[in-house]
Amino acid sequence: MTSKTRVVVIGAGLAGVTLARRLGELGTPALLVGDEEHRPYNRVLLAEVLAGRYSPEVIALPAPAGLLRGRVTGIDRAGRTVRCADGSVIAYDTLVLATGSNAVLPPLRGLFTPDHELPEGVHAFRTMDDCLGLSKAVRPGARAVVIGGGLLGVSAARALAVRGAQVVLAQQSERLMERQLDPAASALVRRHLEGLGVEVHTECRVRDVRSVGGAVRSVEMGDGYALGADLVVLACGVRPRTGLAREAGLDVGKGVLVDDELRTSDPHIRAVGDCAEHAGRVYGLAAPALEQAGVLAGLLASDGTAPRHYFGTRSLTRLTLAGSGSPGPSTPGSGGPFDGPGTPFDLAAFGETDPRPGDDVVQLADATRGTYRKVVVRDDRLVGGVLVGELGTVGALARAWEGAEPLPSDGGPLLHLLTHDGGS
Ligand SMILES: Cc1cc2nc3c(=O)[nH]c(=O)nc-3n(C[C@H](O)[C@H](O)[C@H](O)COP(=O)(O)OP(=O)(O)OC[C@H]3O[C@@H](n4cnc5c(N)ncnc54)[C@H](O)[C@@H]3O)c2cc1C
Repeated sequence: MTSKTRVVVIGAGLAGVTLARRLGELGTPALLVGDEEHRPYNRVLLAEVLAGRYSPEVIALPAPAGLLRGRVTGIDRAGRTVRCADGSVIAYDTLVLATGSNAVLPPLRGLFTPDHELPEGVHAFRTMDDCLGLSKAVRPGARAVVIGGGLLGVSAARALAVRGAQVVLAQQSERLMERQLDPAASALVRRHLEGLGVEVHTECRVRDVRSVGGAVRSVEMGDGYALGADLVVLACGVRPRTGLAREAGLDVGKGVLVDDELRTSDPHIRAVGDCAEHAGRVYGLAAPALEQAGVLAGLLASDGTAPRHYFGTRSLTRLTLAGSGSPGPSTPGSGGPFDGPGTPFDLAAFGETDPRPGDDVVQLADATRGTYRKVVVRDDRLVGGVLVGELGTVGALARAWEGAEPLPSDGGPLLHLLTHDGGS
């Protein structure tokens, strides 16, 4: 069966759903094709589900009209159609790739069973299915090893600890969440996890996964030390899902290459979100995915009000660890103070958090409360910052950063930015 729809969006994640909804509001309905079984959801809040704080329904996104469950298996660029796994063919005028990322499976010995499955007890942490599988398997006292100490690993470790597991977090590099946080903020995250009973090992390489009868039993470290494990979480980063684009002959680097109008090397195909590479950057974060979706909706619906170009992200990224605040689907990545076990905890990071020589830095740390605030200023402009544990000033900082306006030069306003919430 062949049907005709003007805009077809592949992938019902944050970017695809936001784009389709916005297009609907602008009078250009799109057909959205998504391959996950669940209602579209806010992936940023998966750790909240794992922690037992929210049910899957709570993090569901309002689904747009025109959502089709199915998996796109091929693109015929000459005929301008896509083929789905069930054999159906959908025609498009404009196709949008919003296929997101896949979890990276690290090259560990013993990671796959002879029939190329992950052993029982070994889980990635990317999808609702991953999350529900882990949630079902975790028991109080279960021995869990989380491999990877980035945002995903830290949020998984935290959520499993909240569920009563004995968690070991193995991080290959020297500190946690090094992509987003500076050393002082990383140290606070570590202290926070340790406060929840998580054993954190940095500069620690996992080499082997050992299973018996298809179920994981232990992991072995680079130095030969074996850790007993009932559960293993693979949190070793993500890779843009570019298979469809590659097979269709589109230009692909780390992600699907797009210009400032989010157009791929085929003028009839655009790409947004985690799968897209813009100006040499693949973001892998919610805020850029949402921004790109908003810009593209404006371009495709030609309403003339939305920005006509995407120049890279200047919005602040909030990092949500399990247990923080409001699940509101309209604000993916947002969070309020954590009110579960342990100290209040929330994080935000933006721009450049490591200063260059000559930059001005203002830092406020409160060891007792476990809070830390830092901003980096270059040539009178706010270029980056980190907030841990205390996000009252996040709105004022976001406005100063996004606006990129020169700051008054006497230093006073900077401290003010760090200490007053400016009505955020
Ligand atoms: C546990 C976790 C915590 C996170 N925390 C944060 C955070 O605190 N802050 C932050 O900024 N970001 C966070 N992120 C990252 C954020 O979730 C992503 O950047 C965001 O989801 C990207 O949106 P997307 O729509 O591009 O991709 P995705 O949300 O991955 O959606 C892509 C969708 O496309 C579907 N798809 C792919 N191929 C096909 C196909 N061929 N046919 C049909 N459907 C297809 C996929 O199944 C998926 O549903 C987190 C991610 C995870 C996993």
